[in-house]
Amino acid sequence: MNDHHKLGRELELFDSAPLIGAGLPIWLPDGAVARHAVESYLYELERRNGYRHVYSPPLAKREMYERSGHLPHFADDMFPAMDDLVLRPSLCPHHAMVFAARGRSYRELPLRIGELGGMFRAERSGVLGGLQRVRAISLNDGHIFCAPEQVVGEIAGSLRLMKQAQQALGFEPSSIRLSARGLGGKYVDDPAMWDRAENQLEQALKLADVSYVEAPGEAAFYGPKIDVQVLIGGRESTLATVQVDYYQPARFDLSYVDADGERKRPVMVHRSAAGSMERLFAHLIEVHGGAFPAWYAPLQLAVLPVGAGQDAAARAFAAECHAAGIRAERWIEGTVASRVRAGAQRKVPYVAVIGPREDQDGTVSLRDRVVPVQAAIAELSALCKLPR
Ligand SMILES: [Zn+2]
Repeated sequence: MNDHHKLGRELELFDSAPLIGAGLPIWLPDGAVARHAVESYLYELERRNGYRHVYSPPLAKREMYERSGHLPHFADDMFPAMDDLVLRPSLCPHHAMVFAARGRSYRELPLRIGELGGMFRAERSGVLGGLQRVRAISLNDGHIFCAPEQVVGEIAGSLRLMKQAQQALGFEPSSIRLSARGLGGKYVDDPAMWDRAENQLEQALKLADVSYVEAPGEAAFYGPKIDVQVLIGGRESTLATVQVDYYQPARFDLSYVDADGERKRPVMVHRSAAGSMERLFAHLIEVHGGAFPAWYAPLQLAVLPVGAGQDAAARAFAAECHAAGIRAERWIEGTVASRVRAGAQRKVPYVAVIGPREDQDGTVSLRDRVVPVQAAIAELSALCKLPR
């Protein structure tokens, strides 16, 4: 089995330092390059799907989390307040403030707000490990503010967006759960609200043709959700979710002016297309054994001159690849065979070899073919760019 801790260390993707603390991993340069490519892809995917992106700070006043319901219902998972400020356990209230920044009309709905933002959870030290469960979380988050009749369509759209992201990233969920309320006091007490929200999630799952299992007792405190489950270290974790929320819009008194001139309450659909960057990469490292699809591989191409005579050609080729947006390096140390092995160990998807023959003909050798330089650059750049 591929263990993301071990591969993450071997491939220098991330590290944990005792001096920083448990559950606070740092992304090393190669891990950061891969993550940046994935973030860029998600940003573009959301932008094409009508999201407007925002930035919001990872702290807010206690009062905001009293209002959102987090302090009454979720305080065990939060860090203690610092004076009047709290490290946020989720982005929802900040995005509610984006909606509330000015008066809203029904014409603006659905308003889709996206952010790759930081949030914090006071996880017990016993459960922390690698990237799978952390205390500082970078979430690909989004909130859709919509009219009640748009809810099902927006959930189904979020499910389709997730599916598209999963295909591009190269993984499939182990299961999709419909997480409903269970027994116990942690859930907001409003049975009619729960029934309506659960029903809408079910309708959307059918509309998007997604098969799922039911999981009572796994809902958020404010509403039911759809969970995308993946295997990490052989165990199922929740990667991404879609949630319907009638509670926070009421708590923050959000409203829009409808076509009939009346003030109406929007519904909030919380959704993540690909989860937190930490948990996503714990899974991606394992599912790909560290050999990521080329578009988010830290290094995409190693250029190997056979001897010193081809160094100039290799240098020129690597520079042109760079200019074409390919993450390329020229490797000159050791035999060609040892450099090809190093490429495999570092999970570099493409290797271009330039010997005297290639140099003379203006070509490069890719795995099993000899290709003219310009054609090789065009082909590699198509293989290495962000998917659409
Ligand atoms: Zn949320």
